[in-house]
Amino acid sequence: ARRAVAEKINPVQVLVREAKDVYRSQFKGEPDVAVFAPGRVNLIGEHSDYNDGFVMPMALPLVTVIVGKKAPGEESTVYTTHDFKEKQVTFAMPNQDAVERAVARDGPKWSLYIKGVVAKYLGGSPPAFTAVVHSSVPLGGGLSSSASLEVATYVFLDALTGDTSVSMTDKVLACQKAENEYAEMPCGIMDQYISFMGKEGHALLIDCRSMTSTLIPVADENVVFLVINSNVKHELTSSEFHTRRKQCEEAARILKKASLRDANLEDIQHLQCIDTDEVIVRRARHVITERHRTVEGAEMLKQRNYDKFGLLMKESHLSLKEDFEVSCPELDELVALALEVDGVLGSRMTGAGFGGCTVSLVCTHAVDNMIDHIKKNYKGNATFYICKPGPGASRI
Ligand code: ADP
Ligand code: MG
Repeated sequence: ARRAVAEKINPVQVLVREAKDVYRSQFKGEPDVAVFAPGRVNLIGEHSDYNDGFVMPMALPLVTVIVGKKAPGEESTVYTTHDFKEKQVTFAMPNQDAVERAVARDGPKWSLYIKGVVAKYLGGSPPAFTAVVHSSVPLGGGLSSSASLEVATYVFLDALTGDTSVSMTDKVLACQKAENEYAEMPCGIMDQYISFMGKEGHALLIDCRSMTSTLIPVADENVVFLVINSNVKHELTSSEFHTRRKQCEEAARILKKASLRDANLEDIQHLQCIDTDEVIVRRARHVITERHRTVEGAEMLKQRNYDKFGLLMKESHLSLKEDFEVSCPELDELVALALEVDGVLGSRMTGAGFGGCTVSLVCTHAVDNMIDHIKKNYKGNATFYICKPGPGASRI
């Protein structure tokens, strides 16, 4: 049998070259700006960011690239190389003098992420432009192609305006608003934060309340973080996400806390004692225990205690499956299969859930066995990414 292998990940330079070729044939002329922004994998701390908690993502070598330049007139045109029915959109840029910068929320869904960032951009009035979007982040795979598209758009606009006055935190919040209001996804700040601020060789332990972070080195030749895409996406992601958010707010309200960030393990018992709806108790229990696992996990990674970190990953998955109920049969199957292989230290779903990816901590010598085992036994079609933490977004 042919040996199973992980996906080849194209370097950013290759993607930029490809994007420029597409630009020349779509728009004529030469693009003078090129930027990239990475997708991410969250190692632990799931459904924590919108509860003001801790998360620990790393930026991936999977990225969204935008190339382009200023255009005359008041209309911008963007072309995506991704296989959509409508691959090119043209839209009116917001009125330069308007206080509230408005961009029409119409056209294909993919264009709303870009329009949202144009509307929320903080570095002055962006000029009209032509651009090509090209990416290696799988779309809808839980590796945050959406945030990487927003952040790439923001960095692209910065390159056009030359603005350097806005803080990184405000840029993160602007991109989050774009996703909340234009894509109607009530996400927290994690994805945009790591896409802007990722560091090569490191995960970031992010405190989502203070929006500060600690670098956690993740460069050890003996272990690998392997991302596996289940290649399924169940449609309920967005509606269930809304529901989870509401349930967490409800739990915090009952506990009279600003958010579940302020709740402790004893509060879980308290919720039970006062006969809180059993579902709300379980949602709170996930968020509260996940905070402990994430803070401890960061310490374990620093100490290179991979056995313990793996254990925390397994507990995190169980909590997401049983208490938060955001896993699905495919993710559960991938995690179970992974853990059957010698040298796999931990495995869990990553991202919002209901499909998308798992992340596993694997001894380097066991990676090939693991891929083989899953290719042979997983009922669906899985893709594999060996992930080294890459840098955050920048102009090239
Ligand atoms: P995820 O962020 O996990 O990949 P989302 O559903 O949040 O999944 O975001 C995926 C959406 O982001 C796509 O359906 C598309 O609308 C948009 N998107 C991401 N990358 C691109 C791209 N290269 N070109 C066009 N749209 C993109
Ligand atoms: Mg997303």
